[in-house]
Amino acid sequence: IILCQDVHKWFGSFHVLKGVSTTVARGEKVVICGPSGSGKSTFIRTLNRLEEHQRGRIVVDGIELTGDLKNVEAIRRDVGMVFQEFNLFPHLTVLQNVTLGPAWVKRQRREEAEVLGRELLERVGIPEQAHKYPGQLSGGQQQRVAIARALAMQPRIMLFDEPTSALDPEMIKEVLDVMRELAHTGMTMLVVTHEMGFAREVADRILFFDQGEIVEENEPEAFFEGPRHERTKLFLSQIL
Ligand code: ATP
Ligand code: MG
Repeated sequence: IILCQDVHKWFGSFHVLKGVSTTVARGEKVVICGPSGSGKSTFIRTLNRLEEHQRGRIVVDGIELTGDLKNVEAIRRDVGMVFQEFNLFPHLTVLQNVTLGPAWVKRQRREEAEVLGRELLERVGIPEQAHKYPGQLSGGQQQRVAIARALAMQPRIMLFDEPTSALDPEMIKEVLDVMRELAHTGMTMLVVTHEMGFAREVADRILFFDQGEIVEENEPEAFFEGPRHERTKLFLSQIL
């Protein structure tokens, strides 16, 4: 469902992605880890065109991401994204946050969008919060709203960029539980995270980034038990 071939990106003269190649199959769960500044966020942002790459090829759900991409909307509809900072609209209620996308982009009728919105809030475990404002919720609840909002667009792929790193420890689990649940539905997921318990349990594959390259790529067990690369070993020794 995703193909990356020798993807390069520069920020000015800074070479941030140095030839990233990988493929992700439909339904696959891929965890991305690596040191700060290694290009993890930049990489997943190229997949929904929040960032443009300059060389190489990216195909997402059959759409070729080229320089003069015309249907950015199609990509944004297919690919949901959840950020570290929840990025909810503070002046809209929880339910409005969740229904805004479908109402605008898909021109769904309000009633229809609301039914789906309530279902999704149920699914992420906070149906009773529908009429509150984001500021009235805990961080974990806000992140679950953000997940519901992304799912409201009925994406085929979900990208998560460190979805739990802004959360207090007791809230991390509730968000990871929702993600685990989503994984079981067969969603294709790419997750940048340092939650290695989650990676071990949910990931089909782990990509280790360092200095703009995928240095190592393996199934969780092999990745944790027998990292091949020195940089991976060093990284794991620091975080485990
Ligand atoms: P972290 O774990 O801290 O989130 P990361 O692996 O996600 O790190 P990126 O955010 O992708 O790393 O950044 C990779 C490099 O690109 C960093 O050196 C960063 O400073 C640089 N960078 C990121 N965004 C921009 C930008 N918009 N303009 C210039 N440089 C940028
Ligand atoms: Mg990042």
